[in-house]
Amino acid sequence: MVIMPIDVPELVEQVLAGSRQHIAKALTLVESSKPAHREKAREMLRLLAPHTGDAIRVGISGVPGAGKSTFINAMGTKLIDEFNYKVAVLAVDPSSTRTGGSILGDRTRMGDLCNRDEAFVRPSPSGGHLGGVARATREAMIVMEAAGYNVVLVETVGVGQSEVAVAGMVDTFLMLSVAGTGDQLQGIKKGILELADVVAVNKADGDNAGNARVSARDLSIAMKLVSSDADKRRVPVLTCSSYTKEGLDDVWQAIVDHRAYLEADGSLQARRIEQQREWLWNMVRNEILESLDTDPSVQQVAEKIEAGLGTEATNALEGAEQILRAFAHAVPGLPWA
Ligand code: GDP
Repeated sequence: MVIMPIDVPELVEQVLAGSRQHIAKALTLVESSKPAHREKAREMLRLLAPHTGDAIRVGISGVPGAGKSTFINAMGTKLIDEFNYKVAVLAVDPSSTRTGGSILGDRTRMGDLCNRDEAFVRPSPSGGHLGGVARATREAMIVMEAAGYNVVLVETVGVGQSEVAVAGMVDTFLMLSVAGTGDQLQGIKKGILELADVVAVNKADGDNAGNARVSARDLSIAMKLVSSDADKRRVPVLTCSSYTKEGLDDVWQAIVDHRAYLEADGSLQARRIEQQREWLWNMVRNEILESLDTDPSVQQVAEKIEAGLGTEATNALEGAEQILRAFAHAVPGLPWA
């Protein structure tokens, strides 16, 4: 990935001015794990951060096929047309390969939105571990908010850990379900429903409309069972269709209401501070893991030790010590030096 040379103040100025070309460059920068890029990225994010905080941050989850892309396409277009919003779409899918088949945020599945000047759709950073993808997405949110996007939608696959990561970066978590797929029960099993602030049974159109209403009622009961603060706020369970656009108004209203609810009792601020705290430690852990994985001198030692495993010369305990020593040497000040 070649994104040099980078003039950070110039990049920041252009991002703040909303230049799409520079936003794309800034996103590529935060997606890189190269140490030189990380340094530039941090400098850029420090300058962009004061221009963030006002956007409505929404996570959207649901099993593959639940209709997330179609929903985001319809909802995003609606927000642009009705509220004059600028809408950013990001995605967290650690299995994404970018060149492979199933890519969240795929341009072809969000055709209308991708054609709008007021929208910016970015597929998930490819591959790697969830921590790295989540970091890049968290930082991409800062870029998009600073660039003047009023709504940031973060799409994720309904598989568990990605949801937890996304819930840690948004204000409101919307779970899309579909009638008759049994995914509401899977959702409960994996604890995803517990993360949901708003639930919508999607594809409530044509012959499906009746089933969707029944499913919404069932889910509403299930939500009460998994809800931990039942007496404080009932999680609304709605129905909608991205085809007919019916119910989309109500879903958006529920998202806005949830944010107002958080703002009213001060918990939006508390939630964001807690997210910052989690974020802080994720960054520390990630940076350590990334330098462990990428530092050439550590890798050199590690390769030698791995090659020697199973022989008399090396055992795992000693090998670990040697790798940690090499790591400490690469990062001065650590206790193993
Ligand atoms: P994703 O995998 O969750 O992103 O799902 P997609 O947006 O790709 O949609 C999966 C399938 O469901 C596609 O064939 C869509 O055309 C269809 N679909 C999406 N939204 C609706 C809807 O509101 N009503 C109906 N009937 N079908 C839908």
